[in-house]
Amino acid sequence: MKSHNRVLVTGAGGFIGHNLVNRLKQEGYWVRGADIKEPEFEPTQADEFELLDLRQWANCLQATRGIDQVYNLAADMGGIGYITASLVDITRNNILINAHMLEASRINAVQRFLFSSSACVYAGYKQEEPEVTPLREEDAHPADPEAGYGWEKLFTEQLCRYYFHDYRFETRIVRFHNVYGPLGTYEGGKEKAPAAISRKVALTPDGGDIEVWGDGRQTRSFMYIDDCVEGLLRLMAGSYREPLNLGRDELISVDGLVDLVCEIAGKQLIKRHNLSKPQGVRGRNSDNSRLRQVLGWEPKIPLRDGLKVTYLWIEHELRKTKRLPPALSYAADMAYAAD
Ligand code: NAD
Repeated sequence: MKSHNRVLVTGAGGFIGHNLVNRLKQEGYWVRGADIKEPEFEPTQADEFELLDLRQWANCLQATRGIDQVYNLAADMGGIGYITASLVDITRNNILINAHMLEASRINAVQRFLFSSSACVYAGYKQEEPEVTPLREEDAHPADPEAGYGWEKLFTEQLCRYYFHDYRFETRIVRFHNVYGPLGTYEGGKEKAPAAISRKVALTPDGGDIEVWGDGRQTRSFMYIDDCVEGLLRLMAGSYREPLNLGRDELISVDGLVDLVCEIAGKQLIKRHNLSKPQGVRGRNSDNSRLRQVLGWEPKIPLRDGLKVTYLWIEHELRKTKRLPPALSYAADMAYAAD
């Protein structure tokens, strides 16, 4: 047990936070989780789990007591529909969480604080073409980030720098590019494209049609959760303080993503493009040059492999909740035989 390393994961009831807690426990850390909700799909493995609203100053002080390292993953966030719908709530909630968590961590003598930023900080004018040039860390300036959510992330990146400047408080800043995998929300409005598409494909009979947001030609890259968690541990352990991309650089269009999920599901479906839905920037990819240089590593899990595990997990969840008939496919049987 690495008893000298007492770790706090905020957002431990959420997708990345819950998966990170699992990994930290495997590594032998003592872990406290904090969130406004418990994990949705399985119990936490954290040594302590506190239900706390981290917009409140007193709760941030409580969460950070006796802690060496903080992974600050708590945020009000969701897919493109969610983050473009309520700009004030998201911005205000996240400003409060991050400003209070930074100061409470400093006061409670936390040694390291990792802030989860996002590719949404990147300037819109650099992402106008599907064949986008991969984004380097310096492409966040001159600033033109995603409204609300992106502006808050960009400002908190600066705040982390100020904490080092004024107090020599050690911060790490990660810019995630579209993380996906099992144990993530797949319905209800907060889910991201890989989970939403997997759910739609699973629920649509072969030969049917599914709705795709936008014209389907917008492009993105997607990182599997195991790579994400590995990158987080490496970044926290290292000495690099500036913002760093953490993503895959395997670019794919949204239509391509739908085709890949259909292939995994063994279905042929018709895509119905809904141009009235938000689709975000035209193209976005991660330039991993600095990541390779700083960490000597980059995410490796191919989209096809990660998506297969994710699709099978979502299909399995839909069967468990009786949204799909109980007859398991052979693959789902094999993947989740232990249940
Ligand atoms: P998530 O929504 O699954 O997890 C966030 C968690 O924060 C949720 O469990 C939520 O309940 C919690 N939370 C929200 N408000 C809170 C509050 N007031 N007090 C305490 N907890 C609160 O999201 P995720 O995908 O796990 O994202 C984790 C972090 O990574 C977030 O900061 C997010 O902005 C960032 N990020 C994620 C992605 C991605 O693709 N998943 C991409 C870019 C950035």
